[in-house]
Amino acid sequence: MSKGKIIVLSGPSGSGKTTLQQKLLASEKFKNRLFKSISVTTRPMRLNEQKGRDYLFISQEEFAKKIKSGEFLEWECVFGNYYGTPKNNVENLLVGGKNVLLCIDVKGAATVSRLYPDAVKIFVTAPTLFVLKDRLIKRGTENQESIESRIETAKIELQEAKNYKYVVVNDDLDITFNELEKILSIELNKS
Ligand code: ADP
Ligand code: 5GP
Repeated sequence: MSKGKIIVLSGPSGSGKTTLQQKLLASEKFKNRLFKSISVTTRPMRLNEQKGRDYLFISQEEFAKKIKSGEFLEWECVFGNYYGTPKNNVENLLVGGKNVLLCIDVKGAATVSRLYPDAVKIFVTAPTLFVLKDRLIKRGTENQESIESRIETAKIELQEAKNYKYVVVNDDLDITFNELEKILSIELNKS
């Protein structure tokens, strides 16, 4: 059995990564060909989220223990909370010939590229910072301060787009999703 591939989705908060990820994982084409790596985080759970489906929500103490025992493939502090990719899950999926989807920040993505140079990195962005802010406001999960911090970080993250194999501008959701499906069809059919 050939080894699976890693697909990384990164991009500014509010660009649409989670929405696109959910559509991909539910799509006829990819639902049995792509498996999400569920990250561990110290961030509080949002109202529409579920434990173990969206993230594994743990305390800072537990997170620190996991760092110490080498459980993460990569981890970062993003917007004041810790996020990490569990190493075992990803390795088990890859060894089992499964393709793994990671939805992680640009620093984590750089670490994954170093560890897995074949990982396919896709950068998702919104048409403008104004649209990005508008989407964050409409999503209703962040306070004003958090939105401002996400927009400031987005300016830095956008400079990383050049290090990605693909950059998709998520303007119309259906068009972006089709674009993403095409990219994955190409990448997952390569041997
Ligand atoms: P991220 O995971 O990158 O932070 P989300 O997937 O949560 O972003 O998307 C941010 C918000 O924008 C959500 O409310 C989502 O429904 C909305 N959204 C995503 N893509 C689009 C789009 N193409 N057009 C309009 N709204 C979108
Ligand atoms: P959110 O709190 O909005 O779900 O995610 C905030 C940021 O953390 C996003 O950029 C998201 O991609 C990133 N993120 C989520 N999980 C991980 C992870 O396991 N590792 C890293 N490095 N970033 C992550």
